[in-house]
Amino acid sequence: MDRISEVEFIVESALNYTKQILEKIIDIPSPSGYCRNVLDYIASEVKELGFSFDMTAKGNGLIYIPQNDSNNNNEKGILLTAHVDTLGAMVRSIKADGKIRMTSIGGFMMQSVEGEYCTIHMRNQKTVTGTILSTKPSVHVYNDARSMERTEDLMEIRLDESVTSKEDVQALGITVGDYISFDPRYSVSKSGYIKSRHLDDKAGVAILMGFLHYIHENQVSLSRDVTIMLSTYEEVGHGSSYIPMTIDTLLAIDMGAIGDDLTCTEKDVSICVKDGRGPYDYGMVNELINIAQTHKISYALDIYPYYSSDASAALSGGHDIKAALIGPGVHASHTLERTHEDALRNTLQLLIGYVK
Ligand SMILES: [Zn+2]
Repeated sequence: MDRISEVEFIVESALNYTKQILEKIIDIPSPSGYCRNVLDYIASEVKELGFSFDMTAKGNGLIYIPQNDSNNNNEKGILLTAHVDTLGAMVRSIKADGKIRMTSIGGFMMQSVEGEYCTIHMRNQKTVTGTILSTKPSVHVYNDARSMERTEDLMEIRLDESVTSKEDVQALGITVGDYISFDPRYSVSKSGYIKSRHLDDKAGVAILMGFLHYIHENQVSLSRDVTIMLSTYEEVGHGSSYIPMTIDTLLAIDMGAIGDDLTCTEKDVSICVKDGRGPYDYGMVNELINIAQTHKISYALDIYPYYSSDASAALSGGHDIKAALIGPGVHASHTLERTHEDALRNTLQLLIGYVK
Protein backbone atom coordinates (compact mmCIF):
# COMPACT_ATOMS: atom_id res chain seq x y z
CA MET A 1 0.00 0.00 0.00
CA ASP A 2 1.50 3.36 -0.95
CA ARG A 3 1.64 6.33 1.38
CA ILE A 4 -1.34 8.21 -0.10
CA SER A 5 -3.85 5.38 0.13
CA GLU A 6 -2.46 4.54 3.56
CA VAL A 7 -3.27 8.02 4.85
CA GLU A 8 -6.71 7.98 3.25
CA PHE A 9 -7.57 4.53 4.52
CA ILE A 10 -6.60 5.08 8.11
CA VAL A 11 -8.25 8.45 8.42
CA GLU A 12 -11.84 7.16 8.01
CA SER A 13 -12.09 5.77 11.53
CA ALA A 14 -10.64 9.00 12.96
CA LEU A 15 -13.06 10.99 10.79
CA ASN A 16 -16.05 9.09 12.15
CA TYR A 17 -14.85 9.83 15.68
CA THR A 18 -14.35 13.51 14.71
CA LYS A 19 -17.97 13.74 13.53
CA GLN A 20 -19.28 12.04 16.69
CA ILE A 21 -17.30 14.40 18.93
CA LEU A 22 -18.39 17.43 16.92
CA GLU A 23 -22.07 16.61 17.38
CA LYS A 24 -21.54 16.15 21.14
CA ILE A 25 -19.51 19.30 21.83
CA ILE A 26 -21.62 21.57 19.62
CA ASP A 27 -24.45 20.82 22.02
CA ILE A 28 -22.55 21.86 25.18
CA PRO A 29 -22.81 25.67 25.56
CA SER A 30 -19.41 27.38 25.81
CA PRO A 31 -19.27 31.13 25.16
CA SER A 32 -15.76 32.55 25.86
CA GLY A 33 -14.89 32.10 29.53
CA TYR A 34 -17.68 29.57 30.20
CA CYS A 35 -16.03 26.40 28.90
CA ARG A 36 -15.77 24.20 31.98
CA ASN A 37 -18.60 21.83 31.01
CA VAL A 38 -17.37 21.22 27.48
CA LEU A 39 -13.78 20.73 28.71
CA ASP A 40 -14.99 18.22 31.33
CA TYR A 41 -16.61 16.22 28.55
CA ILE A 42 -13.50 16.45 26.35
CA ALA A 43 -11.25 15.48 29.29
CA SER A 44 -13.18 12.24 29.80
CA GLU A 45 -12.84 11.37 26.09
CA VAL A 46 -9.12 12.23 26.12
CA LYS A 47 -8.52 9.95 29.11
CA GLU A 48 -10.43 7.17 27.37
CA LEU A 49 -7.99 7.47 24.47
CA GLY A 50 -5.13 7.06 26.94
CA PHE A 51 -3.82 10.63 27.17
CA SER A 52 -3.58 12.94 30.15
CA PHE A 53 -5.57 16.17 30.40
CA ASP A 54 -4.51 19.28 32.30
CA MET A 55 -5.73 22.83 32.62
CA THR A 56 -3.88 26.14 32.71
CA ALA A 57 -4.80 28.70 35.37
CA LYS A 58 -7.01 30.62 32.97
CA GLY A 59 -8.83 27.47 31.98
CA ASN A 60 -7.29 26.32 28.68
CA GLY A 61 -7.13 22.55 28.26
CA LEU A 62 -3.73 20.86 27.71
CA ILE A 63 -3.16 17.37 26.31
CA TYR A 64 0.36 15.92 26.05
CA ILE A 65 1.52 13.37 23.49
CA PRO A 66 5.08 12.42 24.46
CA GLN A 67 7.57 11.54 21.71
CA ASN A 68 8.57 7.92 21.38
CA ASP A 69 12.03 8.61 19.97
CA SER A 70 14.33 9.33 22.92
CA ASN A 71 17.20 10.43 20.62
CA ASN A 72 15.46 13.72 19.99
CA ASN A 73 15.06 14.84 23.58
CA ASN A 74 16.61 18.27 23.14
CA GLU A 75 14.24 19.39 20.42
CA LYS A 76 11.40 21.71 21.40
CA GLY A 77 7.88 20.51 20.78
CA ILE A 78 4.92 21.38 18.54
CA LEU A 79 1.75 22.96 19.89
CA LEU A 80 -1.54 22.29 18.14
CA THR A 81 -4.37 24.61 19.13
CA ALA A 82 -8.08 24.99 18.54
CA HIS A 83 -10.58 27.05 20.48
CA VAL A 84 -13.48 25.49 22.27
CA ASP A 85 -15.09 28.84 23.13
CA THR A 86 -17.79 30.26 20.91
CA LEU A 87 -19.74 33.43 20.35
CA GLY A 88 -22.40 34.17 22.93
CA ALA A 89 -23.64 36.96 25.16
CA MET A 90 -24.18 38.04 28.75
CA VAL A 91 -27.02 39.66 30.64
CA ARG A 92 -26.19 43.37 30.61
CA SER A 93 -29.29 44.50 32.47
CA ILE A 94 -32.89 43.58 33.18
CA LYS A 95 -35.48 45.93 31.72
CA ALA A 96 -38.50 47.28 33.61
CA ASP A 97 -40.85 45.15 31.45
CA GLY A 98 -39.01 41.90 32.20
CA LYS A 99 -37.01 41.70 28.95
CA ILE A 100 -33.23 41.16 29.02
CA ARG A 101 -30.71 43.54 27.53
CA MET A 102 -27.59 41.67 26.40
CA THR A 103 -23.94 42.40 25.73
CA SER A 104 -22.11 40.43 23.01
CA ILE A 105 -19.25 38.03 23.59
CA GLY A 106 -17.21 37.90 20.38
CA GLY A 107 -17.90 39.64 17.07
CA PHE A 108 -21.16 38.96 15.27
CA MET A 109 -23.93 40.77 13.41
CA MET A 110 -27.14 41.24 15.40
CA GLN A 111 -29.04 40.09 12.27
CA SER A 112 -27.37 36.69 12.67
CA VAL A 113 -28.97 36.05 16.07
CA GLU A 114 -32.31 37.80 15.57
CA GLY A 115 -35.05 35.22 16.11
CA GLU A 116 -32.64 32.69 17.62
CA TYR A 117 -33.57 30.66 20.67
CA CYS A 118 -31.14 31.07 23.55
CA THR A 119 -30.46 29.86 27.08
CA ILE A 120 -29.54 31.96 30.11
CA HIS A 121 -27.17 30.15 32.48
CA MET A 122 -27.65 31.40 36.04
CA ARG A 123 -24.96 31.26 38.72
CA ASN A 124 -27.18 28.85 40.70
CA GLN A 125 -26.74 26.33 37.79
CA LYS A 126 -30.36 26.71 36.67
CA THR A 127 -31.26 27.77 33.15
CA VAL A 128 -34.06 29.78 31.53
CA THR A 129 -34.75 29.76 27.79
CA GLY A 130 -35.80 32.66 25.61
CA THR A 131 -35.72 34.23 22.14
CA ILE A 132 -33.51 37.05 20.86
CA LEU A 133 -35.66 39.70 19.15
CA SER A 134 -35.45 43.32 18.10
CA THR A 135 -37.22 45.81 20.36
CA LYS A 136 -39.81 46.20 17.58
CA PRO A 137 -40.40 42.56 16.69
CA SER A 138 -43.83 42.71 15.01
CA VAL A 139 -44.73 44.21 11.60
CA HIS A 140 -48.35 44.44 12.78
CA VAL A 141 -47.39 46.88 15.49
CA TYR A 142 -44.33 48.87 14.40
CA ASN A 143 -44.22 50.69 11.08
CA ASP A 144 -40.39 50.62 11.07
CA ALA A 145 -40.01 46.99 12.21
CA ARG A 146 -38.34 46.11 8.91
CA SER A 147 -36.13 49.15 8.46
CA MET A 148 -34.91 49.81 11.99
CA GLU A 149 -31.23 49.17 12.60
CA ARG A 150 -30.19 45.97 14.36
CA THR A 151 -27.73 47.17 16.99
CA GLU A 152 -27.06 45.67 20.40
CA ASP A 153 -29.13 48.29 22.23
CA LEU A 154 -32.11 47.65 19.92
CA MET A 155 -32.16 43.90 20.65
CA GLU A 156 -33.60 42.14 23.68
CA ILE A 157 -34.42 38.70 25.01
CA ARG A 158 -37.99 37.56 25.63
CA LEU A 159 -37.90 34.94 28.38
CA ASP A 160 -40.07 31.81 28.30
CA GLU A 161 -41.40 32.58 31.79
CA SER A 162 -44.36 34.60 33.11
CA VAL A 163 -42.47 37.80 33.79
CA THR A 164 -43.66 41.39 33.31
CA SER A 165 -41.27 43.29 35.57
CA LYS A 166 -37.64 43.49 36.58
CA GLU A 167 -38.56 42.02 39.98
CA ASP A 168 -40.18 38.97 38.32
CA VAL A 169 -36.95 38.29 36.45
CA GLN A 170 -34.79 38.78 39.54
CA ALA A 171 -37.04 36.32 41.37
CA LEU A 172 -36.04 33.66 38.80
CA GLY A 173 -32.44 34.17 39.91
CA ILE A 174 -31.23 35.97 36.78
CA THR A 175 -28.54 38.57 37.47
CA VAL A 176 -26.24 40.86 35.51
CA GLY A 177 -23.34 38.81 34.08
CA ASP A 178 -25.21 35.55 33.54
CA TYR A 179 -23.98 33.83 30.37
CA ILE A 180 -26.28 33.51 27.35
CA SER A 181 -25.75 30.76 24.75
CA PHE A 182 -27.37 30.52 21.31
CA ASP A 183 -29.07 27.34 20.07
CA PRO A 184 -26.56 25.80 17.64
CA ARG A 185 -29.13 24.07 15.36
CA TYR A 186 -26.76 21.27 14.35
CA SER A 187 -27.80 19.14 11.41
CA VAL A 188 -26.11 16.97 8.77
CA SER A 189 -27.43 16.54 5.23
CA LYS A 190 -27.36 13.27 3.31
CA SER A 191 -24.84 14.94 0.98
CA GLY A 192 -22.36 15.41 3.83
CA TYR A 193 -22.90 19.07 4.65
CA ILE A 194 -22.72 19.94 8.34
CA LYS A 195 -24.85 22.94 9.28
CA SER A 196 -24.58 24.55 12.70
CA ARG A 197 -23.55 27.57 14.67
CA HIS A 198 -20.15 27.34 16.32
CA LEU A 199 -18.41 25.15 13.71
CA ASP A 200 -15.88 27.93 14.35
CA ASP A 201 -14.06 26.37 16.06
CA LYS A 202 -15.69 23.26 17.47
CA ALA A 203 -14.96 21.63 14.11
CA GLY A 204 -11.27 22.38 14.82
CA VAL A 205 -11.51 20.90 18.32
CA ALA A 206 -13.22 17.79 16.94
CA ILE A 207 -10.46 17.42 14.32
CA LEU A 208 -7.82 17.52 17.08
CA MET A 209 -9.78 14.82 18.91
CA GLY A 210 -9.83 12.83 15.65
CA PHE A 211 -6.06 13.30 15.50
CA LEU A 212 -5.71 11.86 19.03
CA HIS A 213 -7.93 8.96 18.02
CA TYR A 214 -5.67 8.33 15.01
CA ILE A 215 -2.50 8.39 17.18
CA HIS A 216 -4.13 6.03 19.68
CA GLU A 217 -5.59 3.56 17.14
CA ASN A 218 -2.47 3.34 14.99
CA GLN A 219 0.09 3.48 17.81
CA VAL A 220 1.82 6.24 15.83
CA SER A 221 5.28 7.08 17.10
CA LEU A 222 6.15 10.77 17.00
CA SER A 223 9.67 12.15 16.70
CA ARG A 224 8.80 15.33 18.65
CA ASP A 225 6.68 16.12 21.68
CA VAL A 226 3.23 17.29 20.63
CA THR A 227 0.99 19.29 22.96
CA ILE A 228 -2.61 20.22 22.23
CA MET A 229 -4.06 23.40 23.73
CA LEU A 230 -7.81 23.93 23.69
CA SER A 231 -8.24 27.61 24.29
CA THR A 232 -11.23 29.25 25.93
CA TYR A 233 -10.93 32.99 25.17
CA GLU A 234 -10.13 33.03 21.42
CA GLU A 235 -13.28 34.86 20.38
CA VAL A 236 -12.29 37.75 22.63
CA GLY A 237 -8.70 37.84 21.36
CA HIS A 238 -6.37 36.18 23.88
CA GLY A 239 -7.01 32.41 23.61
CA SER A 240 -3.43 31.14 23.33
CA SER A 241 -1.58 34.33 24.23
CA TYR A 242 0.24 32.15 26.79
CA ILE A 243 1.74 28.85 25.63
CA PRO A 244 4.06 26.36 27.37
CA MET A 245 7.72 27.41 27.03
CA THR A 246 8.91 24.07 25.64
CA ILE A 247 7.29 24.89 22.29
CA ASP A 248 8.89 26.42 19.19
CA THR A 249 6.25 25.57 16.57
CA LEU A 250 2.52 26.32 16.69
CA LEU A 251 -0.11 25.06 14.28
CA ALA A 252 -3.57 26.52 14.88
CA ILE A 253 -6.60 24.61 13.61
CA ASP A 254 -9.35 27.11 12.97
CA MET A 255 -11.95 27.70 10.26
CA GLY A 256 -11.13 28.78 6.73
CA ALA A 257 -13.23 31.70 5.48
CA ILE A 258 -15.25 31.61 2.24
CA GLY A 259 -16.47 34.35 -0.10
CA ASP A 260 -15.47 37.44 -2.13
CA ASP A 261 -12.09 36.75 -3.76
CA LEU A 262 -11.22 33.80 -1.51
CA THR A 263 -10.65 30.36 -3.08
CA CYS A 264 -11.51 28.11 -0.13
CA THR A 265 -14.68 26.01 -0.38
CA GLU A 266 -16.62 24.03 2.23
CA LYS A 267 -14.75 20.91 1.09
CA ASP A 268 -11.18 22.24 1.32
CA VAL A 269 -8.65 22.61 4.05
CA SER A 270 -7.60 26.23 4.13
CA ILE A 271 -3.94 27.17 4.55
CA CYS A 272 -3.97 30.80 5.68
CA VAL A 273 -0.95 32.72 4.40
CA LYS A 274 -1.73 36.03 6.12
CA ASP A 275 -4.53 37.36 8.28
CA GLY A 276 -5.43 40.69 9.90
CA ARG A 277 -2.42 40.40 12.22
CA GLY A 278 0.13 39.69 9.46
CA PRO A 279 1.81 36.83 7.57
CA TYR A 280 2.30 33.31 8.94
CA ASP A 281 5.65 31.47 8.90
CA TYR A 282 6.90 31.19 5.31
CA GLY A 283 8.65 27.83 5.81
CA MET A 284 5.69 26.22 7.58
CA VAL A 285 3.31 27.34 4.84
CA ASN A 286 5.69 25.82 2.25
CA GLU A 287 5.80 22.59 4.18
CA LEU A 288 1.99 22.44 4.46
CA ILE A 289 1.59 23.06 0.71
CA ASN A 290 4.09 20.29 -0.06
CA ILE A 291 2.30 17.80 2.19
CA ALA A 292 -1.09 18.69 0.66
CA GLN A 293 0.28 18.26 -2.86
CA THR A 294 2.11 15.00 -2.07
CA HIS A 295 -0.98 13.42 -0.52
CA LYS A 296 -3.47 14.93 -3.00
CA ILE A 297 -5.27 16.75 -0.20
CA SER A 298 -7.68 19.39 -1.53
CA TYR A 299 -6.41 22.71 -0.09
CA ALA A 300 -6.76 26.45 -0.66
CA LEU A 301 -4.28 29.25 0.03
CA ASP A 302 -6.03 32.36 1.26
CA ILE A 303 -5.62 35.73 2.97
CA TYR A 304 -8.13 36.81 5.62
CA PRO A 305 -7.96 40.56 6.30
CA TYR A 306 -10.70 40.53 8.99
CA TYR A 307 -9.51 37.51 10.93
CA SER A 308 -7.03 36.62 13.63
CA SER A 309 -6.27 33.29 15.30
CA ASP A 310 -4.78 31.59 18.33
CA ALA A 311 -1.49 31.56 16.39
CA SER A 312 -1.47 35.35 16.08
CA ALA A 313 -2.50 35.61 19.77
CA ALA A 314 0.58 33.54 20.75
CA LEU A 315 2.86 35.68 18.57
CA SER A 316 1.38 38.86 20.04
CA GLY A 317 1.87 37.30 23.49
CA GLY A 318 5.61 37.58 22.83
CA HIS A 319 6.55 33.95 22.15
CA ASP A 320 9.58 33.14 19.98
CA ILE A 321 7.81 30.59 17.80
CA LYS A 322 6.97 29.94 14.19
CA ALA A 323 3.26 29.63 13.53
CA ALA A 324 0.75 28.67 10.88
CA LEU A 325 -3.00 28.31 10.56
CA ILE A 326 -5.05 25.64 8.79
CA GLY A 327 -8.69 24.58 9.05
CA PRO A 328 -11.86 23.41 7.33
CA GLY A 329 -13.65 25.84 5.02
CA VAL A 330 -16.68 27.27 6.83
CA HIS A 331 -19.31 29.26 4.95
CA ALA A 332 -21.12 32.22 6.58
CA SER A 333 -18.83 32.26 9.61
CA HIS A 334 -20.22 33.71 12.83
CA THR A 335 -23.79 33.22 11.61
CA LEU A 336 -25.46 29.97 10.51
CA GLU A 337 -22.30 28.23 9.41
CA ARG A 338 -21.81 25.26 7.10
CA THR A 339 -18.94 22.98 6.22
CA HIS A 340 -18.64 19.55 4.60
CA GLU A 341 -17.23 16.31 5.94
CA ASP A 342 -14.64 16.45 3.12
CA ALA A 343 -13.17 19.57 4.74
CA LEU A 344 -12.87 17.72 8.05
CA ARG A 345 -11.13 14.83 6.28
CA ASN A 346 -8.76 17.11 4.36
CA THR A 347 -7.82 19.02 7.52
CA LEU A 348 -7.28 15.80 9.45
CA GLN A 349 -5.04 14.42 6.68
CA LEU A 350 -2.97 17.60 6.44
CA LEU A 351 -2.59 17.72 10.21
CA ILE A 352 -1.48 14.07 10.38
CA GLY A 353 0.87 14.59 7.44
CA TYR A 354 2.44 17.63 9.13
CA VAL A 355 2.93 16.11 12.57
CA LYS A 356 4.22 12.77 11.22
ZN1 LIG B 1 -12.29 30.67 15.29
